[in-house]
Amino acid sequence: MKTVEDARHLRDRILLAFEMAELATDPQERAEWLTFVVIGAGPTGVELVGQVAELAHTVLPQDYRSVNTTEARILLLEGAGAVLGPFDPKLQRYTQRRLEQMGVEIRLHTLAVDMDDESVTAEGPDGEEVIRARTRIWAAGVQASPLAAQLAGQVGVETDRAGRIPVNPDCTLAGHPEVFAIGDMVSLNNLPGVAQPAMQEGRYVGKVIKTRLAGDQQIEPFRYFDKGSMATIGHRSAVADAFGFRFTGFVGYVIWAFIHVAYLIGWGNRLGTLYTWARALWFSHNRGHRIITFEQAHEQALDHPRPPSGGGPATPDRPRAESSHLDTATHTDRSQPVGPGRRKPGR
Ligand SMILES: Cc1cc2nc3c(=O)[nH]c(=O)nc-3n(C[C@H](O)[C@H](O)[C@H](O)COP(=O)(O)OP(=O)(O)OC[C@H]3O[C@@H](n4cnc5c(N)ncnc54)[C@H](O)[C@@H]3O)c2cc1C
Repeated sequence: MKTVEDARHLRDRILLAFEMAELATDPQERAEWLTFVVIGAGPTGVELVGQVAELAHTVLPQDYRSVNTTEARILLLEGAGAVLGPFDPKLQRYTQRRLEQMGVEIRLHTLAVDMDDESVTAEGPDGEEVIRARTRIWAAGVQASPLAAQLAGQVGVETDRAGRIPVNPDCTLAGHPEVFAIGDMVSLNNLPGVAQPAMQEGRYVGKVIKTRLAGDQQIEPFRYFDKGSMATIGHRSAVADAFGFRFTGFVGYVIWAFIHVAYLIGWGNRLGTLYTWARALWFSHNRGHRIITFEQAHEQALDHPRPPSGGGPATPDRPRAESSHLDTATHTDRSQPVGPGRRKPGR
């Protein structure tokens, strides 16, 4: 997951998995739809499993007739010995405990070594295990923009494992003081691929250019000011290592929210986000966020076609011609969002 479109796509996939579980008549297939595997327990993986766990245990249970969403299995695979690798051990322990309380199965020292459409193979301390799961989410790192590799080829340097190009201490490319590179596409002083280095490098490069234009060639190397790290663990809980202190739980969540809102562009966005979050804190059943769009439903239906009978044998109260929610979706107006099928009325 990298872009906003990726995030929307993923949200639809997760919601559709619950829909498919509702439609499944075979218990094995239903269990597979209700199994979610997230690979990588960095901040992205932790935030994802927390949200899936809350969705399954708190938000969705009232919405389905035949499936019990609290039976969902949510697994977090991590190759290292702790969740949130770069964080303080106290925050790591808190996060692990909190996620386990939320029903997440955490497998440490466990690598995902293979994957197909319906399973993940995990290799852990007890050997290899094939986990049957229709939803598998890679949260173990993203590749840098292909532009980094192109630039590296042109200046004759190697990119690192994440496809990032090395830069000089003043963010210029080797042998090219006129070319700057910053942010996620560069490797500099082992800085993490998060927003703060990118923002600070941007400001620094602006100053370097201004200094050079003023005729001064004495330029200090880039220095990173670490403002801390933080991650949410679902709704109303987070860990934060900021201002030299460590925070957990709701206090951590408020600090996380404050910092993320402060860095948004414009007061309109800040106020809008605060309003949405405040509503989400008290009304976790906001249906607007659970819309599944037509394209996703259609794609899923094509990937996993259901039998023409509607998924089960004909019975007097369930005739063979009954069409599933996803079947219906393929005939609806493409511009309309597709709502969940067979939900309990009144929600
Ligand atoms: C799921 C996820 C969650 C994250 N959560 C956090 C978080 O909570 N806190 C945090 O600090 N960081 C977080 N990050 C990291 C953060 O998003 C990045 O570190 C930050 O966006 C890097 O900024 P950037 O400008 O270098 O790159 P980007 O924000 O990726 O911007 C690069 C832009 O350049 C464009 N581009 C690429 N190649 C070209 C080209 N050849 N020509 C023209 N345009 C091009 C891209 O389309 C993109 O719009 C998260 C990242 C992910 C993936």
